[in-house]
Amino acid sequence: MKLILLGAPGAGKGTQAERLCQELNIPTISTGNILRAAIKHGTPTGLKAEAFMKAGKLVPDEVIIGIINERLAEEDCRDGFILDGVPRTIAQAEALEKAGITFDDVVSIEISDETIMERMSGRRVCEHCGASYHLVAVPPKTPGVCDKCGGKLIQRHDDEPETVKARLEVYHKETEPLKDFYAHRGLLKSVENQPSVEETSQAILHALGR
Ligand code: AMP
Repeated sequence: MKLILLGAPGAGKGTQAERLCQELNIPTISTGNILRAAIKHGTPTGLKAEAFMKAGKLVPDEVIIGIINERLAEEDCRDGFILDGVPRTIAQAEALEKAGITFDDVVSIEISDETIMERMSGRRVCEHCGASYHLVAVPPKTPGVCDKCGGKLIQRHDDEPETVKARLEVYHKETEPLKDFYAHRGLLKSVENQPSVEETSQAILHALGR
């Protein structure tokens, strides 16, 4: 099962990907998490990406294409994977096709910009493993502590309101055209964001015929 999750920043791709990868028993590949780890470790990729991410801009395609081709060649991706936050541009989608990577489904989570702006203020992520939480919708068992690895939960710099606005603009301009790109290939399934995480997961599984 090779799946792409599309959706605006804050649509819940990360949360849904974590649930789906348990259900489907395949890894989630998040370029955002890979880049944040690269920044934390001060790698050359991290140094290239940091300023773009802080400004809410996209990291250049060639950096992302390098990262994703390398990651998908790893052993754990052999039986399938879920892509969270990639591709984000037509050039990235074309590069995946060129590398011979085909997909079974592309799920787009639909949600209004207003709901995202409200939601982002409560988002917290684990600084260690990247798992995401929400103060109200998906709280950790112990405040400030990751359920999965015990890491510290932090607010991302790019979840601040001005940066979220910039990221939404980038999404509409650069990433939303991917919906047409995959609709033309007969792969697109649009799922409306639901009031709860669980209901959205059910809607996604239903769209996938499971
Ligand atoms: P995310 O965690 O997916 O919201 O990504 C956080 C930030 O990392 C984005 O705002 C971009 O700056 C960068 N990023 C992550 N994935 C990509 C991608 N596929 N293409 C370009 N930039 C990306």
